[in-house]
Amino acid sequence: MKQTADTRCAMITIAGRPNVGKSTLVNALVGEKIAIVSPKPQTTRNRIYAVIDRGDTQVILLDTPGFHRARTKLGEQMVRTVRESIADVDAVALVVEPVASPGDIERELIAGIKQSGCPGVLVINKIDTVEKEKLFAVISAYAALHDFDAVVPISAKNGDGTQQLLAEFQSFAKSGPKLFPEGEVTDQPERQVCAELIREKLLLCLDKEIPHGTAVVIDRFSERIDTEIIDIDATIYCEKSSHKGIIIGKNGAMLKKIGALSRADIERFMGAKVFLQTWVKVKENWRDNASLSQRFTVNE
Ligand code: GDP
Ligand code: MG
Repeated sequence: MKQTADTRCAMITIAGRPNVGKSTLVNALVGEKIAIVSPKPQTTRNRIYAVIDRGDTQVILLDTPGFHRARTKLGEQMVRTVRESIADVDAVALVVEPVASPGDIERELIAGIKQSGCPGVLVINKIDTVEKEKLFAVISAYAALHDFDAVVPISAKNGDGTQQLLAEFQSFAKSGPKLFPEGEVTDQPERQVCAELIREKLLLCLDKEIPHGTAVVIDRFSERIDTEIIDIDATIYCEKSSHKGIIIGKNGAMLKKIGALSRADIERFMGAKVFLQTWVKVKENWRDNASLSQRFTVNE
């Protein structure tokens, strides 16, 4: 890790409503599949740090969960995560849809940015879906709400504007040691990334009612000493025994499918062969149990 005085760091929170494209953006910038991308809202439950090294500058991205009103204790935690993540970063990137009508979530996030006094970058995503002329209305609608330090229209999907955005993020860097070793893309323990990859497959394979009541805990993550093989034991927690049946499927077919898809992705991420064993357990109301949801959502 470089600790010289001429290194710089920029901590950037990526904020925005669910489905606006935050994970896609983080993935586009990092160039590796870390943040979870899904067409379903609220897929990102954890705060994920992605680290991008650009010469002497390190840009650290915080991918926050969607800002929304708390209905369960887990929800309250998500909201707190967003507020806290605004508190001590160098800039907040507010990612919005290319529509000229800021919603409640955007207004609350802007209020948070104002309160914190933190520089704000307006990121208008999905410009591939609108005509260029329509962007002016979007920009002026947001300019009326806040004096953003920069406005960057992008398409996270096809990469338009993402390098300009990264350059903008770099401009907020402050002198200081790099906070992460070079070459690392996340500070999440590897087991948490694995848990997220499994959870992504649950979302992919099952109806949306079930996955939002599920959590994945990695019980064992051990690398064999002499070979490049990693043994992983994972437990999928769900809220009802009927859900357990659906997750396991007929003759275990669904769990097998989830396991196979997960293993392929984990192997790609780890660059090693993986033996993955999965279990399904029922834990009623785990979302309302603060200590459990803490365990499920916070880095170990
Ligand atoms: P998040 O909830 O904010 O993290 O959003 P995701 O990154 O999971 O993206 C939600 C959906 O929007 C996915 O289906 C993405 O493929 C899609 N999406 C993200 N960025 C773009 C973009 O620039 N253009 C288009 N057309 N779709 C996008
Ligand atoms: Mg996301």
